[in-house]
Amino acid sequence: MHLVKIWSDSFICLTTYQYKQFHNGIEVEHAEFREHVDKTNGDSVVALSQGDIVEGLNVSATPSILESTALDSALFHMDVDSFLWESDSAEFYLREYPISYFDSTYYPKGLLIITINDTLEKEPSNYKLTWKFPILAMIDSQLHSEIVYVDAHDGSIVKRENAIHDNGTFNHVYHGARNDLDTRQINGDFYTVANDVLSGNTQMRDIWTTDDLNTWTARGMAKDDNDVWGNDHWGATSAHWVIQKSWKLWEFIYGRQGGPAGPNGTNTSGTTLQVFVGNEYNRNGAYWERSTSRIYFVRDRNNPGPFLGTLDIGGHEFTHGVVQNTANLGNSHESGALNESFADIFGMLTERLVFPSSFNWTIGENTGSTIRDIQTPSNMTSTIDGVARTHPEIYDGPNWVDVSNCRTVIPNTNDQCFTHVNCGVQNKWFNLLSIGGTTTVNGNVRVVNGIGIDKAGKIAFTSLTRLSWAGDQNYLKARANSIAAARVLYGSCSDEERETCKAWFAVNVGNNNCEPCIEWGPETVCYWCNSSGGTVAPLNTEEFRRQTKTISVYPNPASNYLEVSLPEMTREFKVNHGIKFEIVDLQGKLISVTSPNINDFRHTIDITQLTPGLYVIRCSGAGYMTSVRFLKK
Ligand SMILES: [Zn+2]
Repeated sequence: MHLVKIWSDSFICLTTYQYKQFHNGIEVEHAEFREHVDKTNGDSVVALSQGDIVEGLNVSATPSILESTALDSALFHMDVDSFLWESDSAEFYLREYPISYFDSTYYPKGLLIITINDTLEKEPSNYKLTWKFPILAMIDSQLHSEIVYVDAHDGSIVKRENAIHDNGTFNHVYHGARNDLDTRQINGDFYTVANDVLSGNTQMRDIWTTDDLNTWTARGMAKDDNDVWGNDHWGATSAHWVIQKSWKLWEFIYGRQGGPAGPNGTNTSGTTLQVFVGNEYNRNGAYWERSTSRIYFVRDRNNPGPFLGTLDIGGHEFTHGVVQNTANLGNSHESGALNESFADIFGMLTERLVFPSSFNWTIGENTGSTIRDIQTPSNMTSTIDGVARTHPEIYDGPNWVDVSNCRTVIPNTNDQCFTHVNCGVQNKWFNLLSIGGTTTVNGNVRVVNGIGIDKAGKIAFTSLTRLSWAGDQNYLKARANSIAAARVLYGSCSDEERETCKAWFAVNVGNNNCEPCIEWGPETVCYWCNSSGGTVAPLNTEEFRRQTKTISVYPNPASNYLEVSLPEMTREFKVNHGIKFEIVDLQGKLISVTSPNINDFRHTIDITQLTPGLYVIRCSGAGYMTSVRFLKK
């Protein structure tokens, strides 16, 4: 494991240590571990640790084929009209205005990475050393973007991912006359380049919107001589305004600075979000393009559909950018469905930011064609491969599409395994958590008491942007992360935590172990009930902190025996909360587990078998842990 990032987070008041898994020096994609540490009282208590690493990997880290050979293989398998780097004008403008990944050319650069093949089954043998290429091309005058993974040993295609989040087609858009278009004055003219200096920092809200082909230059930005735009450049100004509002939602409500690329050192300074409005790609839609991190609002040149620059759709596409830079959910299967759902949720919250009393729970309705309904997903259908699919509200229930054996195809005719259909379940979860309601699952009524949209939004935000989504990016992970988020934000045993859990149960994700059991005594301690009705975890950070506060190890460095002292910890606490000591190496690998002495505050641990080096000893139990480092001589 490599420590890749540390950030302090005023939103959840924790400091996060993010470790990524490396195998023989090569990053393993989507494998990481995070410790969220509470430092408020001067000591460091791990409030939450989570993540997923791949065990038992045995992948040769030395590629057998060159990057160029792998790229040849990738390109051989792509059926496109041309590649973007073959366009002189696209290359010219890219050199003038480079973007993060493609600094001077769209010609793909390969990244050596270990990834899982498209079986998505987490067997070690399914992990391959690959060359990963983002490839931009044109098909039928439409932009096409793919991520292609080529086996670095035999040159075969391990998997291909469509890198465009497309929203399909709709009809009309209006949010009325506005007077808050965020522009920048350059040499006497006003351009659709946002210029707000954000409160609390010196960063610009850097959004550049063009409607002049794919130029991205000042010349190409929409321009006006007096900042009274009227209907001039109506597409660019409308799109610019909704993206400006999307940025504002994340900035002012959730404290996330820097646009989709966001805070915490990932591209915070100098990040320009480019927005394109136009019709050169002969497609109707709105989408986030993953490789260039651009937002597109496009209409078919010959058969134009409605313009899609609405608050909910713009907020949806913007959120895809946030997802890419945080949870990094995929574009297919359950992972892709959750990606779409988060985009819907924060798209709707963008509309609510601007219209706090007249917002609604549907997406796209301003265009004349609603595409999703967060409150009642089953009101909507999507036609996929010629089959009309009603959106499900209950996991594994009516209209749910089982995607466990689904394979993505290119061209994308199956919606990357029904992502815009199965998103209905998390959408329904969010609506239930916000305003409450009931569902019926297998004939049984399930009730949720709403906690309000603001709190539900903060839980979704924390789950998405603060917690690890390593390993299986599926509905069970979404459940676990949001419950952990509610606990971090609102406290153990809080109503918010319970209702977050109950809302998942109401959409049939996970069980009904949501009711806390309170144990009354000299210290009131709150527990989660496990399925047999017993207790598994106390939910009182303060209590855990108090009991583990004075943990120490002696001697340090140590040779054969280590003495761990916990003078504050009571006998009852050890018994009731399953306290144990775990020794972990710096790769995060669990080496040993020892139970404590019940009747003594000193605990002797045999470390004769350890190879010399640095280790961490954790005192864990009750869902919490605290840790101390020691050196084995
Ligand atoms: Zn989408």
